[in-house]
Amino acid sequence: MSRTAKAVYLHGVGDLRIHEEPVPQIAAPNEVLIRVAAVGVCGSDCHFYRRGRIGRFVVKEPIILGHEFSGTVVDVGAEVEHLKQGDQVAVEPGIPCRRCQRCREGRYNLCEREVVFMATPGLTHGAFREYLTWPADLAFKLPERVSLEDGAMVEPLAVGVQACRRAGIVPGQSAAVLGAGPIGLLAAQAAASYGAHPVVVTDVVSTRVALAEKLGMTAVDAGKSDVVEAIRARTEGRGVDAVIETAGTLPTVREAMAAVKTGGVVVLVGMLAEEEGMLRAMDIIEREYDVRGVFRYATCYLPALSLIAAGRIDLASLRTHEFPLDQTEEAIKTTIEDKAGAVKVLVRP
Ligand SMILES: [Zn+2]
Ligand SMILES: [Zn+2]
Repeated sequence: MSRTAKAVYLHGVGDLRIHEEPVPQIAAPNEVLIRVAAVGVCGSDCHFYRRGRIGRFVVKEPIILGHEFSGTVVDVGAEVEHLKQGDQVAVEPGIPCRRCQRCREGRYNLCEREVVFMATPGLTHGAFREYLTWPADLAFKLPERVSLEDGAMVEPLAVGVQACRRAGIVPGQSAAVLGAGPIGLLAAQAAASYGAHPVVVTDVVSTRVALAEKLGMTAVDAGKSDVVEAIRARTEGRGVDAVIETAGTLPTVREAMAAVKTGGVVVLVGMLAEEEGMLRAMDIIEREYDVRGVFRYATCYLPALSLIAAGRIDLASLRTHEFPLDQTEEAIKTTIEDKAGAVKVLVRP
C-alpha cells in the first residue's frame, strides 16, 4: 500500500489542519495496521484544542488528537496470531513498558516509566486519522453484536469499570456517581451491572440528569436540590457504600466525602484543576472511609467488552453526534459548546 490517507493535526490553540500523508506501514512484527472507524471526542482533546496544554504536556509540534477509537484490521505483523485482516477491534491507547514492577503487578496504568499514551504531546499521535499502526496485544477483537460505534466507547467504559473495581462494589451495595458526563454515565451503568442499587447519579445539567434517569438510575438535579441530602434520603440517612466522583471540582469532591457512608469508599476519577483545601483528614480518620484514586484503567477492556456484549450497557443513548473526519473541528467544538445536548460525539474517518 503506497496510498495516502488523511490525518487531522492540531498545530496550536484552535488550529486544526488536515494533512495528506502516506498510509503508515507495519514497522514491528507485533503490530497491526488499523483502518480507524470511529473516534470519540474526549475532554482531553477539547482541552488541548482550547488551551494547547494539559499540565506538563504542551503542544509544541503538530499532533494528532483522539484516543477513544475502534477500527478494522487491514494488515498484521509476522508475529501477530490473535488477529487477522478484517477483524474489528477496540484499542487500548496506552503502551506501558511491560517490564517494571508495576507493570508486572498488573497495574500497568501506573507504569514506573511513562505510559506512551495516544494524543499526548511529546509521546505519540492519536486516532483522528484514517490509518494507524499499534501493538497488536492492545487491540481487542469486538465480540459479535458489538458495533464499531460501541467499540469506540470501550475506552471511557474501561474507566468506569476501573472505578467500580477500585470502589470494590459488590451486589446489594448502594452507589452514587457525581457528574453525568460520558464517564459518569458509563461508570453508573457499570456500577449497576456490578450489582449496586440504588445508583444515584447527580449533575447540574438537567438534560444529563434526564438521560441518567432514562438509563435507569436514581437521578438528582444538583442545581435544584442538595446532593448530599438527596443521597442520604435514599439510604436511610447513612450515605452510600461507594461514591464515584467524575465531575472533577472541589465542591463535588466535598460532596463525595459527605455522601459516603461511614466505612465506605470514595473513588476520585475527575481531574481537578486545583486541589487546595480538599483533604479532610479528621473526617477520614473518624469515619474510616477510604479515598482512592482512579488513573485510567488496567485490564478493563475485556470486562468492558463483555458487559457491552451482554447488553448491560446502553451506549447508543450516549452517542449524540457524529461527524466525518474533515469536520473533526466541528466535533470538538460541539463537545465544548453544547454542554446540554452533546454527550459523546464521534468522528467517523
Ligand atoms: Zn478519554
Ligand atoms: Zn512499566
